[in-house]
Formats: sequence, structure tokens, C-alpha cells
Amino acid sequence: MVLKLFNTLTRSVQEFAPSAIPGLTTGMYCCGPTVYDYAHIGNWRTFVFADLVRRTLEFAGLNVRHVMNITDVEDKIIRRVQENGQTLREFTGRFEAAFFDDLKALNCLLPHQTPRATEHIPEIVALIERLVARGIAYPAGDGSVYFSIAKYRGCGCCYGQLLKLNLEELRVGERVATDEYDKESVADFALWKARVPGDGAVFWPSPWGEGRPGWHIECSAMSMKALGETFDLHLGGEDLKFPHHEDEIAQSEGATGQPFVKHWLHGAHLLVEGRKMSKSLGNFFTLRDLLAKGFTGREVRYLLLTAHYRETFNFTLDGLAGAKSALARIDECVGKLRALAAPAAAPAATAPAGLLTGFAAALANDLNISAAWAAVFEWVRDTNKRLAENALTPEAAAAALAEWERVDAVLGVGAKPDLAIPPDLMALLAARQAARQARDFKRSDAIRDELKAKGWTIEDTPGGPKLKKI
Ligand SMILES: [Zn+2]
Repeated sequence: MVLKLFNTLTRSVQEFAPSAIPGLTTGMYCCGPTVYDYAHIGNWRTFVFADLVRRTLEFAGLNVRHVMNITDVEDKIIRRVQENGQTLREFTGRFEAAFFDDLKALNCLLPHQTPRATEHIPEIVALIERLVARGIAYPAGDGSVYFSIAKYRGCGCCYGQLLKLNLEELRVGERVATDEYDKESVADFALWKARVPGDGAVFWPSPWGEGRPGWHIECSAMSMKALGETFDLHLGGEDLKFPHHEDEIAQSEGATGQPFVKHWLHGAHLLVEGRKMSKSLGNFFTLRDLLAKGFTGREVRYLLLTAHYRETFNFTLDGLAGAKSALARIDECVGKLRALAAPAAAPAATAPAGLLTGFAAALANDLNISAAWAAVFEWVRDTNKRLAENALTPEAAAAALAEWERVDAVLGVGAKPDLAIPPDLMALLAARQAARQARDFKRSDAIRDELKAKGWTIEDTPGGPKLKKI
């Protein structure tokens, strides 16, 4: 499988060619959550996208090392900590735990490593020291340390690799102390921020005095510690291109003199009900808000995965309702295959329909997810037809199932067979079967009604009675 992905560095779709040494790990770094609140559905689009990328690389046979940092100290967090009167760890710990709960609800694979910024202060300080030693960073009068864009460019390095910047307008000596600024105000940015009264108890010692790291340097230090000074793939939401990712490149390449990342991938924004998400418009959703409305993590995941990662996606509640019925079509087909395949000794050598070929070709083409879903639903139609015609042997059904499971290892939306039907309902089904065999039709009808009241209907199949959600 030759995987092609858009690279923000070259602004083109190109072959993803990780380190060519066989068996070597493909390093993948995704900027993680800033744990000051619950992640919203726009954030989740990025994390589900990162999960799709990781699963696709694994599907392509690569041995991936997936690292996602936890930003547990930065400007917004410090403001909230002061407002809440908690310690930094008490405050961030709560949102960090919620983030991992949500990640699980969306069936995202846990990254192999999730380093916290507060546990990498020595590495961050050491990286700033390297930049100071190379003359690219300088201490300011207040004990802060800034990155000098002019000095960096003077070394022959390029600031503005991910997007074009008008650096001629840059006024030498201007500085920006906050972590977020726009490209019209490019200026030397803070690597280390001197302690101020508003920081409360959030500070660490450093060669330049007490203070805390800037947000951008955290990711440079943690990614290079985990994956080396040059690694294969870095991804994040497109809102992070500037200044966060541009500054990560500058800090890392400024310190090491080596290329930082070979391939940059960025996921596009999300609209909700056609508009930019905002609390005042009532279209701002966390995952918890959607679960409280009765949707499942699986439905949210499916919907987020229906759009190509480089296209703005309009997330709607109607779309979520559609996700429910699309998943039901897959579940029904896979459920029938499971029932038919149960007695098969081994899967047939070849599957009856070429699901994998079409699916793999779609993914290899810059993650063309609509073509990938089209291959899945064509397979569902074709399989249903063969099932209706009794044209599948148990062995062929087992082979089709095995094929689906390889596809679902990438999509991650398949229902778990054991979880699909609660055990108490399975017990009722067995009791109804026993009543029928004893010709106690009154009791068997009563059980059928009880199951119906719980939202399940009984379907008689060649493999015996099965439960199906109404
Ligand atoms: Zn980052």
C-alpha cells in the first residue's frame, strides 16, 4: 500500500515515506488537549482524525509510535486556576481524566505515550539553554526568555514554513508575551515567562529566575524527547499551524540544526449547524452534551469520520440521527454474517466481495474517506443480496467477516458482538425458546412482549432465533 498524504510543508499530496529502515518505528506526534475545560466537538474532530491516521498507518503495515502531549500549564490554565482557587494539578487532573473518558467513548486508541508538560520542565529548560547558547534566544530584562526571529533567520533558517508570512513588516525588537497571536503581529515570542503575581503558585526555578514555559516550547521538548530530533509525522488542527506549529519548527530546528518533522498534516475546522461554534448561538457541544441528548460515542465518531479531513465539515444533529441508521445497516449485515459464520470451521480462502481492495485504495489516496465509506456500503448491499439468496456458505461468511474486521480496525465503528445484546435479554431469549419447545405458547408470547417492551424483536433465522433492536 503506497500511502499518499497532503503535506502542509510542501502544500502537495505526496507519498508518506517514513524512515526507510525496516522495523523502525514511525513517529507520530499529535498536539494534545489543553486541560482547562471539556474538549468540544471541534477538538474531537482533530483527535478522531489523528486516530484515523494512526490506524491507517498501522493498516499499511507500519509500526507506529503515537505520542500526544497533555498541555497542563499555559496562559488559559493559569487564569482558571487562579479563579478556582485550586492547585494546578487538582484543576487540570479533573479535565485530563474527562478527556481520556471521552477519548475512550469515541473508541480512539490510546496513544502510546501522553507526556505532561509539567513533568518535562528540565527538558524544556535544557532546550531553551541550547537556543540561548546558539544566540537564537535571549533573556529579557524581566527574567523572561524570548526567541529571536531575526537571529533564527540570520542562521539561514526559514520562519514561515507552514504558511507564507510577510516578514518584511516585522519590526525588530518587538515581542509577544502571550501564547496566541495572529500572523499580522509576528514578533519574538516567549520561551520562558518570568513569574508574575498572577501566576500564584505556578512557577519553577530556571537559570533565568522563577517562571514557567511558553506553550510552544513544551511541544518541541516533549516531541523530540519521545521521538527524536527528526521524526516522521506531526499533526493537529489547522488552527495550530500558526503560531504554534511554526514556532515548534523554529524552536526545534533552531536548537538542533536538523529538520524537525518530515510530514505535517492538518485537519480542517468544524461548523455546527452551519455556523462557527459559539456558546451564545447554542451550537457549542462537548461530547458530554451529545451523550446527554441520547447519542452514542460511536455515532459521533461515525459522523466525524464521514468528512475528508481537509474539508470544513458541517456537524449537525440531523447528521447524527443519520449516523444511527447508517450504523444500523452495517450492524444488521455483520450480525447476519456472524450468525451464518458461527458453525464454520475456518474462513474460506478468499472473501466473496472485494471490500479490502477498494477500501485500501481509497485510504491510500490522501485518506479519501467518502470513497472508503462507499466501498463499505457497496459491500453491505452486495453481502445482503447474497445472504438473501442464500448464496453464502458459513466459510464464505466467515471470510467476509474477517475482511470487515480488518476494515473496522481502521474505522473503529463496529459494534462489539458481546456488547450488542445485554445478557439479561439473551437469558429471556433462551427462556422463550425453552417455553416454545415445551409448547407453552402463553409464556413464550409473554416473553416476546416483554422483549418488545424493552425495544427488541425476535427474528427466526436458520441459525435459531436472534434478537434485533426495533
Ligand atoms: Zn503542540
